[in-house]
Amino acid sequence: MSTATDRPLTPIRKGLISEPIDSPEAFRLLGSKCGACGELSIGTNAVCLNCGGSDLSSVRLSPEGILWTFTIVRHAPPGDYRGPKPFVPFGLGLIELPDGVRIMAPLDGDIETFRIGARMRLNLNVLDADSPAPLAAFSFSMIG
Ligand SMILES: [Zn+2]
Repeated sequence: MSTATDRPLTPIRKGLISEPIDSPEAFRLLGSKCGACGELSIGTNAVCLNCGGSDLSSVRLSPEGILWTFTIVRHAPPGDYRGPKPFVPFGLGLIELPDGVRIMAPLDGDIETFRIGARMRLNLNVLDADSPAPLAAFSFSMIG
C-alpha cells in the first residue's frame, strides 16, 4: 500500500493513531492504560473496559508483535471497502503486541506466506491518497 502523499492525513479512527502523522517511522497505534487496575486497551478510551475506572493514560503501542492467528479474506467486505479494485484477497491477522494486547489488522504481503508465530511490523497505509482528505490506516507485514 502507498504511503506517499503531501496532504495532511486524517486517522481512520480518532484516538487510534498517534498524531501528528508525519513519518512512517514515528507512526504508532495508541492504547489506554488504566491507573487503577493496569488494564491496557486499544485506542483512546475514557473509561477502563475492565474496571470502569476513569484514570486512563494514553500509551504508544509497540510497532512490532507476533502473528497470533490469521485468515484470508477472499471476498470484498461489504460497505465502504477502500482496498484495491478489482478486489484482491488479503490476510487479516490478530497481532499480539508485547504490551499485552492483541489487535486485528490487515496483513501486507503474499497471502501464501503468512504463518502463525511470525514477527510482524506495523505499517502506515494511506487510503484515498489522491483525495483532498487522505486517511491514515494501518496494516502489519512479516519481518521474520
Ligand atoms: Zn481498570
